[in-house]
Amino acid sequence: MSRVPRVLVVEDEQDIAALIKHALERSGDAEVDVVGSGDTALRAVADHAPDLVILDINLPVMSGAEVCRVMRARPETAQTPIIMLTARTSESDRVAGLDLGADDYVTKPFSLRELSARVRAVLRRRNGQLIVPTATYDGKHLRADFDAVAISVDNEPIRLTRREFELLKFLVENRNRVLSRDRLLERVWGYERFIETRSVDVHVGRLRSKLGPAGLQIETVVGLGYRFVD
Ligand code: CA
Repeated sequence: MSRVPRVLVVEDEQDIAALIKHALERSGDAEVDVVGSGDTALRAVADHAPDLVILDINLPVMSGAEVCRVMRARPETAQTPIIMLTARTSESDRVAGLDLGADDYVTKPFSLRELSARVRAVLRRRNGQLIVPTATYDGKHLRADFDAVAISVDNEPIRLTRREFELLKFLVENRNRVLSRDRLLERVWGYERFIETRSVDVHVGRLRSKLGPAGLQIETVVGLGYRFVD
């Protein structure tokens, strides 16, 4: 996408909305429109679909969760990327955000730098740069050539089982993004037989220890799942 992406910020707290707008526009990442309520947001996205919506969960009258649900139910906005902002820290609210179909969530208080990074990551995915599976990864410790099935850490080849390999590949392809245990199960195990979600934890644990220093790149996101960080 050569034009500057359009981001819609849905937040009733004007000072927070203004900070986000300033941060994203200053860095040149986006042009930002701001609305202060859920119903205005739904009208705005229907009038002119943005490339990304930053949606606060705590809005007057209509909650951000409800806005997200409605957007996902409408074909024209079903694919619009959504980053949810939440002040709540309970796991159930965060899980609800992802279950509703948000692409990512950021918990308040957040750093503008972190939010900008998430925005860039979501827009990159939307642009297809990460939708095409990454065939190779070259990190500080980890080098992976997924086509050649060659994984090494600090130049030492690592032997992985097929599941561990698929798990690593999927995590790396979706790096910097939280993947739920259910999503990992569906993708790596394919629900081909009955597997408990705890098996994911066991496999991630083994994968981490085989990866040594690179294993630290696989973060546990409490109550949600796992994230491979760059
Ligand atoms: Ca709010």
